[in-house]
Amino acid sequence: MTRVEAIDLVKRYGSFVAVDKVTLRAREGELVTILGPSGCGKSTTLRMLAGLIQPDGGRIFFDERDVTSLPPDKRNIGFVFQRVALFPHMNVYKNVAFGLEMRKMPKRVIQERVKEALRLVHMEGYEDRMPSQLSGGQAQRVEIARVLATDPEVLLFDEPLSNIDAKLKDELKYEIRRIQRETRKTLIYVTHDQAEAFAISDRVYVMNNGRIEQEGTPLEIYTNPRTPFIASFIGTTNFIETSLKDYDEKGGIATLEASGLEIRVRHPSILLDRRRRYFISIRPEDIKVINPDDQKSYLNSFKGTVEDAIFIGTTVRLNINVNGLLLKVDTYGAERFNFLDSKGKEVVIGFDSCTILNM
Ligand code: ATP
Repeated sequence: MTRVEAIDLVKRYGSFVAVDKVTLRAREGELVTILGPSGCGKSTTLRMLAGLIQPDGGRIFFDERDVTSLPPDKRNIGFVFQRVALFPHMNVYKNVAFGLEMRKMPKRVIQERVKEALRLVHMEGYEDRMPSQLSGGQAQRVEIARVLATDPEVLLFDEPLSNIDAKLKDELKYEIRRIQRETRKTLIYVTHDQAEAFAISDRVYVMNNGRIEQEGTPLEIYTNPRTPFIASFIGTTNFIETSLKDYDEKGGIATLEASGLEIRVRHPSILLDRRRRYFISIRPEDIKVINPDDQKSYLNSFKGTVEDAIFIGTTVRLNINVNGLLLKVDTYGAERFNFLDSKGKEVVIGFDSCTILNM
């Protein structure tokens, strides 16, 4: 197991800064994801970790070893690309054995390693198949086996599931997690898919415009997004621009105003600056349509009118107009069917959970 540390990595293309002082760490045996929208610099960062791109600044360490100037083949990494790159003229066995044969390992050792790698990805029995006879998901498993067979210190995966259909993708992401757990290898995984990142990661680095904007466990990032970008990129949210009216030091509750409403937010400390605008985020699933008698049980409760009810499947999403503020509210379970015909109805909503974002 190896610890990976990248400090202040920079990559420029002409005057364009693709990666801007990125610092990230993966502990031994940890699965860390770099998550972000297209073009934010995720692949460039991963390729620098692999030695495929030379950084313009910063350093990379594997444990205490400074690997910044080492070529990829001296780093002992296993890189899995978006596109499967199996040799089309070799069968599965030969593909997985290739890297080991190049290292001139004894035949018996190669046989054992290939067998173990195919077992890990649940592809035993496919040794004689040609790549053209495999499904996309099976081919990607063989690709992963090929990488595992060489027993790398660090695994680097660049959107390995992006060319795989949704259902299989869902299965394979858990497979990758299982394989990582079983091999206890440090894995750095790049994706633009939030659900994928959250399902498999110990920790996530969210990247935007070449920078790391937030780092944390999936739960920390979801429940406590620090910036408007994070709040909107991770799941769905209600963004509200507010002004601060009051802060109660004792109770740790800020009162913010928007659209003539006073919204109360639990916040550990805040500098009372009435000239500043504050953005808050409230998740649609954190707002409930409540019984008017229960208003006292919530930090916030308001009357509103349902403008729209949209059936999404597991949820019915309501757009509720509260004093001119349009809020997305998600309803679940059997109760959600009661809202299918709620357009135009008056309701009372209640919520406690709400986050003030840093600007
Ligand atoms: P995607 O998910 O679309 O692959 P990404 O987050 O992995 O995106 P990168 O591939 O790291 O993004 O690219 C980051 C930025 O650097 C992009 O704006 C890209 O256009 C730019 N870029 C990447 N490689 C080069 C290059 N060789 N020359 C010039 N610009 C580049």
